[in-house]
Amino acid sequence: MVDEALRYVQPGFTVGRKIRMKPLFENMVRDKVIGVGESIGLVSPITGEGILPALESAEILVQIMKRQDDPDMIKMAYRKQIMKAYGYYEHLYDLVSAIQNGRTLGLSALRTSLQARRDLIGFGIDFSIRKVIRHFL
Ligand SMILES: Cc1cc2nc3c(=O)[nH]c(=O)nc-3n(C[C@H](O)[C@H](O)[C@H](O)COP(=O)(O)OP(=O)(O)OC[C@H]3O[C@@H](n4cnc5c(N)ncnc54)[C@H](O)[C@@H]3O)c2cc1C
Repeated sequence: MVDEALRYVQPGFTVGRKIRMKPLFENMVRDKVIGVGESIGLVSPITGEGILPALESAEILVQIMKRQDDPDMIKMAYRKQIMKAYGYYEHLYDLVSAIQNGRTLGLSALRTSLQARRDLIGFGIDFSIRKVIRHFL
């Protein structure tokens, strides 16, 4: 619909920038610093949305800090919960990167497609694999 609406509009100029799609989970905690949101790459590799993940990661950290005092325990629990909630972003990144680079998709892409679907629906984006297949046929 957007393509259709813009078909007859002459662009004045177009600018674009690359955005980071790869999670930065290895940098989640370092010394006295614990990262939340975009600082640890919590941006959906599929949609580029990062507001919800930023808020959720901050909420996860706050809830852990309410229960724990020990910094090492906080870091460990935080890492565990972030990986549980967002570890699949690594797979989404691999999928997007494989498609962008024209690499052949393996069987694991099927499972990742379901994770991609869950991600889109989580952001309130209507998505049906059947519609996508129909679009390409
Ligand atoms: C053009 C664009 C469009 C986007 N559109 C969407 C969208 O539609 N939906 C969506 O969900 N996400 C979108 N995103 C992604 C989303 O904006 C970010 O993922 C999200 O804002 C990350 O939140 P954050 O709190 O982790 O980081 P940020 O919002 O980047 O906040 C970090 C803050 O830290 C401050 N800061 C940095 N360094 C220091 C320092 N040394 N000392 C003190 N303060 C510092 C910065 O000024 C900033 O205010 C978009 C991003 C871009 C660039």
